[in-house]
Amino acid sequence: MVGFGYDVHKLAEGESLILGGIKIDSPIGTVAHSDGDVLIHAVIDAILGAAGLGDIGEHFPDTDDKWKGADSTKLLKAVMGMIREEGLHLINVDAIIVMEKPKLSPHKEKIKLKLAELLHLPPKKVNIKATTSEKMGFIGRGEGVAVHAVCMLENK
Ligand code: MG
Repeated sequence: MVGFGYDVHKLAEGESLILGGIKIDSPIGTVAHSDGDVLIHAVIDAILGAAGLGDIGEHFPDTDDKWKGADSTKLLKAVMGMIREEGLHLINVDAIIVMEKPKLSPHKEKIKLKLAELLHLPPKKVNIKATTSEKMGFIGRGEGVAVHAVCMLENK
């Protein structure tokens, strides 16, 4: 089964930028109820989608103080547990981070390795791409970051 996930977060100066559980050295970061790990949020939605388990907001509502400042790697671990219980197995994940700056090319490999570890996948089965929005729209103006992710699940 294929699953698709999308997430967007607002960017602001002085906030931290965490992508795939990796803290990126950046003067701007995501504004969020949780730790704002927009990449993990999109990957979670892709996995939940493939499993037919709804979306991230149903499982971890941002109105619940339980998830305030939540470490997104923990949410991802919980979701990995959910699919295991469903007898499902993750095959691969492909994601694209759309962000004007900072440049993510120096960080992609580290993000991939961390995400592969969290997903219990070999690094080759996790692909992280980065692009800009060519200075157009809210992403191009540096106001936000978006991530699109797909994944494949199979029955064990
Ligand atoms: Mg989010």
